Amino acid sequence: MAQSWPEDRRKALCAWLTANGINPSHIPRDADLYIEPAEDGDPYTGRYLRYEAFHLNADGHRHRDERGLNAAIERRRTPLLVDPPDWWEPYRKPTRQQLLDILTKIRALHRQNEHTGDCEHCSERDYPDYSVPWPCPTIRILIGMDQP
Ligand SMILES: [Zn+2]
Repeated sequence: MAQSWPEDRRKALCAWLTANGINPSHIPRDADLYIEPAEDGDPYTGRYLRYEAFHLNADGHRHRDERGLNAAIERRRTPLLVDPPDWWEPYRKPTRQQLLDILTKIRALHRQNEHTGDCEHCSERDYPDYSVPWPCPTIRILIGMDQP
């Protein structure tokens, strides 16, 4: 029976990780996985494969993080020995600060017009015939007035 396409890719990804000295079973499902050049001053001048892996205790077992809720994760890097499959794409979760910065930009975009009381962004099209009262649907979601 032919293997499914995602299964083929999963196996290829595991083989690639193994070829780079990484045990695929130590990699969480949503782990960051990306390639970066060595920093200036690093005696190694090649590229690093950066990734997240389960932190293992002295017995080689996974353990929980400091909150006791999730598996403990650590960031690691290893010299890139084998290039990834051509279909592979790097994966890097946004940081909390990046997400907060995006929220700040959204809030700056959707602000209440001091004269009309409407959302400036949502009402800008066809103004003054089209107005969206403050708080607009976007801000209502951000402040939890509406559930998405
Ligand atoms: Zn708006």
